[in-house]
Amino acid sequence: MIVGAGSAGCLLANRLSASGARVLLLEAGGSDRRPEVRAPAAFPNQFQTGLDWNYMSEPEPALFGRRLFLPRGKVIGGSSSMNAMLYARGNRSDYDRWESELGATGWSYDAVLPQFKRHERNAEHRDAYHGLSGELHVTERRWLSRAWERFVAAAETAGIPCNPDYNGASQDGASLFQTTTRAGRRWSAADAFLRPALKGENLELVPKALVHRIVIERGRATAVVYERRGKRKTARVQREVILSAGSYGSPQVLMLSGIGPADHLREVGIDPLVDAPAVGQNLHDHVAAFCTWRSRDPRTLTTPPAPATSPSG
Ligand SMILES: Cc1cc2nc3c(=O)[nH]c(=O)nc-3n(C[C@H](O)[C@H](O)[C@H](O)COP(=O)(O)OP(=O)(O)OC[C@H]3O[C@@H](n4cnc5c(N)ncnc54)[C@H](O)[C@@H]3O)c2cc1C
Repeated sequence: MIVGAGSAGCLLANRLSASGARVLLLEAGGSDRRPEVRAPAAFPNQFQTGLDWNYMSEPEPALFGRRLFLPRGKVIGGSSSMNAMLYARGNRSDYDRWESELGATGWSYDAVLPQFKRHERNAEHRDAYHGLSGELHVTERRWLSRAWERFVAAAETAGIPCNPDYNGASQDGASLFQTTTRAGRRWSAADAFLRPALKGENLELVPKALVHRIVIERGRATAVVYERRGKRKTARVQREVILSAGSYGSPQVLMLSGIGPADHLREVGIDPLVDAPAVGQNLHDHVAAFCTWRSRDPRTLTTPPAPATSPSG
């Protein structure tokens, strides 16, 4: 049983059902067949709608108490149906450190690169760093603002070299983005991995199923309690539960199931089953700074709600 049909859940559902396992995939969100999901430039129109979990951070001490909006996809495909589609792998040194310093055997860069290549179908880059026949379509953008050359030239003038492939030998430099798109449309984890797997017999997807908790009996996960259309249901597990509800959702479901910092769980009326102080801690999110300029050229990405007036492509 898999909780969450996002980037991780869709891929796992595909690979596990292909291996012959019977898989039940529970997802809180509903259909992704929406223009603001399909049309790349329209993705911000999903924010703070029913497609979004609508999270706000607690007041951040390092930001003078400001609370930040934290978008997260609540839809089939999860955040891969809402994200900015920029195809960027982690840095080689991070994977290598996981293995050499943190004991994650099998997670070095050299070990994960074949997996990236296996999933990828890159339309432009054909070399030792890219896959050509996987399920995940990766393409360069089909439309570029005229300003891009000046941005890259400015970076080069500032001493930052142009890097034609930041998913290749080195990530450093100024680059144009590669995107998880196909023929100008978003290509989410649901497009790549879920829909093909649903054609098989072994996978069942239950949308609009909000998981409340995992039932643990004698140290084993035996069932999942979820809510659908106002009714509470229990699904029994034959083998195992995979929690892929995202970096906010997974610790929340763990804590609701009694796995987390014991004192905190007692404070909120949950019986602790496993005292795991790290659950819900140490989130590292990536910081982004947006810079916006007024443009004399009306053809920009700020016109997604009116695609007819945007350049074709
Ligand atoms: C606005 C935005 C822009 C981004 N841009 C990029 C980008 O350009 N490039 C990039 O590489 N990354 C980007 N990311 C990050 C990337 O999308 C995520 O890292 C990735 O999708 C996370 O995958 P996941 O499987 O861990 O979680 P998710 O894809 O979020 O999946 C979790 C799933 O679990 C479901 N779920 C959660 N709780 C429950 C519950 N209790 N019951 C049932 N279901 C539940 C959710 O609805 C969701 O479908 C962006 C993210 C956002 C939100």
